[in-house]
Amino acid sequence: MDNSSTAVIKLAMDLIARRSVTPEDAGCQDIMAKRLSSLGFNIESMVFEDTTNLWARRGTTDPVFCFAGHTDVVPAGNLELWKTPPFEPTIIDGMLYGRGAADMKGSLAAMIIATEKFVTAHPNHKGSISYLVTSDEEGPFINGTTRVIDTLEARNEKITYCIVGEPSSTHKVGDVVKNGRRGSISGELTIHGKQGHVAYPEHVKNPIHLAMPALAELSQTHWDHGNDYFPETSFQLSNLQSGTGATNVVPGHISAWFNLRYSTELNDQMIVDKVEAILDKHQLEYEIKWTYNGKPFITEEGLMLDAVAKAVNTVTDNLPVFSTAGGTSDGRFIAPTGANVVELGPCNSTIHQVNESVCCDDLCGLVDIYYHSLVNILCCDNQ
Ligand SMILES: [Zn+2]
Repeated sequence: MDNSSTAVIKLAMDLIARRSVTPEDAGCQDIMAKRLSSLGFNIESMVFEDTTNLWARRGTTDPVFCFAGHTDVVPAGNLELWKTPPFEPTIIDGMLYGRGAADMKGSLAAMIIATEKFVTAHPNHKGSISYLVTSDEEGPFINGTTRVIDTLEARNEKITYCIVGEPSSTHKVGDVVKNGRRGSISGELTIHGKQGHVAYPEHVKNPIHLAMPALAELSQTHWDHGNDYFPETSFQLSNLQSGTGATNVVPGHISAWFNLRYSTELNDQMIVDKVEAILDKHQLEYEIKWTYNGKPFITEEGLMLDAVAKAVNTVTDNLPVFSTAGGTSDGRFIAPTGANVVELGPCNSTIHQVNESVCCDDLCGLVDIYYHSLVNILCCDNQ
């Protein structure tokens, strides 16, 4: 292994050894800040309530390139099912095991090593390099990236290009890059009726009967056709509950919870309006508690995608597939400021599971992919 390979594995292991279960940072950001500080980064720790965030920047001019990520991890789960202790990083057959190995301490380590290599080779790069790191990505995402973005926005500090280190790859590092995410909105719907004895239907209003046609219509509605970047919007019922437990009682209400993953053809308000129009049409008495989980975003073809695709190709000889599939990430808070955001990290097949692991060779590849992305974006002779 060459120097940067040894360095990335060592740093990833240092980070994994810290028990940073969300919203704990457990000193991970200090390790990163120290290394960035010695490269000339200006360091700001932004602590909001229980969450520790890091904003670090080298340079004062545009464009501002940003590495974004999180130091928190999900709980280890059943320890007996782990073949190695989750917070004692261990390498077996070329795989590095430990909680956070793939999501996403391996990526954080790769970002740092790539940045060290880049700043050493190109100390007078154009623009700025920045880091936006939080300890609440896996938690309620209230005091993390969104608060840092609010702070930056308030002082008119903008990110131009951003790589989020979420594990985007499927089989080999760099095979899939996320260039957008669908939006997500959830509703907790309660439909009211009138409770009573099943033998006296004239005295009851059965909320189950009333709800069925409306829920059927919601589940069969065609919301949009999607577009070049997104599949069509999908509505899914996730919970349905009613009844008193007795067979001879008509219940007083039914609750139906649902979620929509939606494309850029729609927005939150259009969905709320359409759902309520359908419920009103069926003349239901209802209430809905809406949760807005994130707006959709897309990074279209241009310098960012070209730079990343070229970097992946230089390192792996293959071109990445750009995709908007999968769950949400903190990219949803960064993209609305106008930043070009992609997610690019190691393979995601073991994330949030017991025996989470990352391929050591993939981490070394990731260092090179991040390095070449920096070169392609911040070196003048490439523009
Ligand atoms: Zn993650």
